[in-house]
Amino acid sequence: MQRTNIDWCLRPDGKPGHSWNPAFGCEHGCPYCYGQVIANRFYKGDFSPRFYPDRVAQPNGLRKPSMIFLGSMTDMFGVWIEQIWWDEILKVIRDNPQHIFATLTKAPERIRSYLVIDELPPNLWLGTTVESEDEARRMAWVRNPYESVKGVRFVSFEPLHGKFEWDIDLEGIDWVIIGQETGNRKDKIPAKKEWVIELASIATDYGIPVWMKDNLVPLIAKEELLREMPTEWKNWLKPVIKADDILDGRGEEELEAGELHAKDMVLSR
Ligand code: SF4
Repeated sequence: MQRTNIDWCLRPDGKPGHSWNPAFGCEHGCPYCYGQVIANRFYKGDFSPRFYPDRVAQPNGLRKPSMIFLGSMTDMFGVWIEQIWWDEILKVIRDNPQHIFATLTKAPERIRSYLVIDELPPNLWLGTTVESEDEARRMAWVRNPYESVKGVRFVSFEPLHGKFEWDIDLEGIDWVIIGQETGNRKDKIPAKKEWVIELASIATDYGIPVWMKDNLVPLIAKEELLREMPTEWKNWLKPVIKADDILDGRGEEELEAGELHAKDMVLSR
């Protein structure tokens, strides 16, 4: 587990949150995938999914409340994820109620194959990625049908690959993230400013907080980026850092440095 530079994954005190990758690798084959870039650099291009049991307990070593991106280098609902992995991960999430664990999937229709929705811990936030109108149906699978289940449901419109019409249904969505494709691939689809502004306006009309990622700065001035988090975020993560939030006499930075996986660098996603 390590600090992440993913800008929406942060703590209320302004410090970066963490990424946690008990699994690495993915079979979705997105042409802009940064995980594949990492695999090319460190694993001879092998981005086939694998599980690291020794990483499962990592959040247990972090008492200070943090926002933790679960599975930034995989899809935790991909067909390659085994039920027993989720069982172990869920136990860690339940054992660490001081943290928020957010995960993003492109296969939200598979969420219920692994998880019992009305028994989910409130510190597990489920999100899906939607690039264009063609994928808008994915949102139906992350909407929360139960009042009793409190975890945030969110949508990451990144990379934003098209315009969304005003009739897009954002009911039941608690948070919207917008970002554009980065990198230099030949068929890269840069976002248009009007796509971003309109999508943000639709979400705002629904009363949904919007987070615009830093990579939109070529389109929108940094000071004009919307940086809104769900209210649950501030209520959940206490910004006060206490002296006893240190384990085993080690400071937080030391603890993280010791656990850093050099091969598992996280780029923006
Ligand atoms: S879903 Fe994410 S990890 Fe999987 S190929 Fe696409 S970008 Fe990469």
